[in-house]
Amino acid sequence: MIEVGVLGATGTVGQQFIRLLEHHPWFRVTWLAASERSAGKRYDELAWRLATPLPAGVGALRVAPIEAVGDAPPLLFSALDSSVAGDAELAYASSGRLVVSNARNHRMDPLVPLLIPEVNPDHVGLLDVQRTARGGAWATGGIVTNPNCAVIVVAMVLAALRPFRPSRVLVTTMQALSGAGYPGVPSLDALGNVIPYIGGGEEEKIEKEAGKLLGDFDGQTVRPAPFVVSAAVNRVPVPDGHTVIMSLDLAAKPAIEDVVSALDAFTAEPQKRNLPSAPPKPIILHRAQDRPQPRLDVAFGDGMPVHCGRVRPCPVLGYKLVALGHNVVRGAAGAAVLNAELLVARGLAAGSATVPAATSGRRG
Ligand code: NAP
Repeated sequence: MIEVGVLGATGTVGQQFIRLLEHHPWFRVTWLAASERSAGKRYDELAWRLATPLPAGVGALRVAPIEAVGDAPPLLFSALDSSVAGDAELAYASSGRLVVSNARNHRMDPLVPLLIPEVNPDHVGLLDVQRTARGGAWATGGIVTNPNCAVIVVAMVLAALRPFRPSRVLVTTMQALSGAGYPGVPSLDALGNVIPYIGGGEEEKIEKEAGKLLGDFDGQTVRPAPFVVSAAVNRVPVPDGHTVIMSLDLAAKPAIEDVVSALDAFTAEPQKRNLPSAPPKPIILHRAQDRPQPRLDVAFGDGMPVHCGRVRPCPVLGYKLVALGHNVVRGAAGAAVLNAELLVARGLAAGSATVPAATSGRRG
């Protein structure tokens, strides 16, 4: 087992890490860190907000302050608030820790892989470039990020349709409350309402991160994909699951049936390697006219697949569809765990040698 730590272990995403790692075949959580509000307390003294029981084994761990860099294990998951993630992740990475992060701070750094293993597994090569460029203890450390929780849904669809050369993409999101972390949006603002704005540059993140994710890595840098994305985001009173309405222009002008087949047949490196957290099918294609829906579909496969439906002609751009992803799992903690699995499988993380390269199979 590879010992791992969780930065920001007490938050919405941090608690998902703890849940997802409970029975992980490769990783064992041995170290936790959070703010000074939580530091010094046992993990089971703090509020546990998931519907599943607190995993045995972590309750007795004492939460460290994020300044305790020297005590951390070599592989860390970060679910830190973005107000502190930037500097903290640099401190851990420059002390030889490999930080697999959810935070937005380093995603667009040209030396940092912005990674979805189904979309751009070759971008892990940027970690070697980063380690060489920064030198010193970075040789074993580094930072690898997963994208924004709505972009993951968009990028998976675009990856499946890459053979048809997407050129213009309109994205309208309906994003769950859990995407705002805890305690998130005040209940009187959220209930019975739609808020047509999400702070922190949400629309810009969707527009820019998609280009980096689908971009070409030439061994040194990532050249952004040539398509243009326009995003309009909304916060809706749904607990978990970001729904994304997409209209696309595909330069190859495929038939609708070919678009449906490409989404349905999509598979990638995590599935070939049988990585423990890889969903058997990364995209679940729904044929019923009223699916996917967050309440009915988001928990399927422990939240790791992206769902797609209502693929049909668009009179403006040619093609339109609905997609859905679990923002806290596929869009955050599960995404980072899958990223770490790819890094281990490719021999880029300390402890990789203890895990068979052809992987030990999926979690039960
Ligand atoms: P959250 O529920 O607010 O949790 C934030 C975590 O950061 C907590 O563990 C908190 O510790 C810690 N923290 C806050 N201020 C700190 C400080 N000054 N020093 C040290 N630690 C501090 O947020 P979240 O939703 O889990 O999001 C965590 C990160 O993931 C963010 O960067 C977010 O943008 C990103 N993300 C979230 C989602 C999602 O769907 N929620 C999806 C993708 C990415 P205390 O509990 O001790 O305060």
